[in-house]
Amino acid sequence: MSRTHKVFIKSFGCQMNVYDSHRMADTLAPAGFSETATLADADLVILNTCHIREKAVDKVYSEIGRIRELKEEAAAQGRRMLIAVAGCVAQAEGQEIIRRASAVDLVVGSQNYHRLPGLIARLQAGEQIVDTEFPADDKFDVLAAPLPEAIVKRGISAFVTVQEGCDKFCTFCVVPYTRGAEVSRPVEKIVDEVEHLAAAGVREVTLIGQNVNAYHGLGADGRPATLGRLLRRLAEVPGILRLRYTTSHPRDMDDDLIAAHGDLPALMPYVHLPVQSGADRMLAAMNRKHTRKEYLDVIAALRACRGDLAFTSDFIVGFPGETEADFRDTLTLVDEVGFATAYSFIYSPRPGTPAADMENQVPEAQKSERLQRLQALITRHWRAFNTQSLGRTEDVLLEKPGKLPGQLVGRTPYLQAVQVMAPRSMIGSLVQVTITDIGTNTLFGALAQERRAPIAAAAGA
Ligand code: SF4
Repeated sequence: MSRTHKVFIKSFGCQMNVYDSHRMADTLAPAGFSETATLADADLVILNTCHIREKAVDKVYSEIGRIRELKEEAAAQGRRMLIAVAGCVAQAEGQEIIRRASAVDLVVGSQNYHRLPGLIARLQAGEQIVDTEFPADDKFDVLAAPLPEAIVKRGISAFVTVQEGCDKFCTFCVVPYTRGAEVSRPVEKIVDEVEHLAAAGVREVTLIGQNVNAYHGLGADGRPATLGRLLRRLAEVPGILRLRYTTSHPRDMDDDLIAAHGDLPALMPYVHLPVQSGADRMLAAMNRKHTRKEYLDVIAALRACRGDLAFTSDFIVGFPGETEADFRDTLTLVDEVGFATAYSFIYSPRPGTPAADMENQVPEAQKSERLQRLQALITRHWRAFNTQSLGRTEDVLLEKPGKLPGQLVGRTPYLQAVQVMAPRSMIGSLVQVTITDIGTNTLFGALAQERRAPIAAAAGA
């Protein structure tokens, strides 16, 4: 390629899409593409779409309509702007996208990002392409590694995809259809990637997967490794101070992973464990493959390993057939676990999923009323959780400059943002901060003078 081209990538949805967007940028860099934050300047626009939320498809088409106008303006100036649609909507809609929006040049499925340079070269020759097959080759083997300067730009905290796809088939969810069966990356490939990130200054790694604790990648001994074993291996990588993982399924929370929470100080005591409902009837209708008691047993086992663990979760309100009694079971579960926070959504049907065809849909007004009650309860727990931090000394990983001069922003083990006065040279350091005040979305603190007992001492408390 004779000159540098500019790519603008917009990510929708989850952290897996953010990670994929980074890897697309890394893969396009050797082909002469540098990232731009200005849409109008782009030679290539990639919409990395998400299919989880309602009206996701409509949003993508309206976004394409907006970009089409810029594409026409660029053409009037003699410049070609290519539009690509990637991610779950691309995977689900395929050819339909080009049929409905002829301005789109490329539709690329989530397994095919490693082919982008070749696909772009074909686009430049004037083709319109749809590439949504699940290929036999492993995209992770051929996606380019990020350049050190790209890692530095993205900060000291990085996501690493270790697993993709899902075999669970919850009746409300499109993931098994859009992302395919569960696939795990081999342990040593992940170790290489994490060592590469650590060498460029990354200090915190969040392992991500649609069903991350179903991880079963091959270990160096040729046998499948659990997520617990992978975490133990990654905890040995020099420079990595913190490990996290998301999103987990309660059924895959095995003994090894639970024990890892007691054994690894680097594994943060903050677990996102979606439950979706507190009622067994609803859990069965959702095909969640666990009961309320089994979920609570997992929470208890984790707490027995590490007393300072906090939990977050996901809830669906108004799933077909949900009665007031079922909904109250959800409220009592929130109280019983005492979640630090949780995400809650009104059920909305996804075409092609079994729940979309269930007859006993809950009226919208009832769903909204229940959502408000659930969110009020979650907010109470969230406030109580944050209030506990006041006066405590927490380990804080300093991430970036704050808004005020001389201020840095970091995170506690529980992902709470903390603003603290500290020199810029401390970015990337794990320091102790005494929490002095609590704002709406942030804590405020001061660097502590005395060292507190290390986190590991709290294990088993
Ligand atoms: S386990 Fe998660 S990703 Fe898999 S089907 Fe259920 S909700 Fe979807």
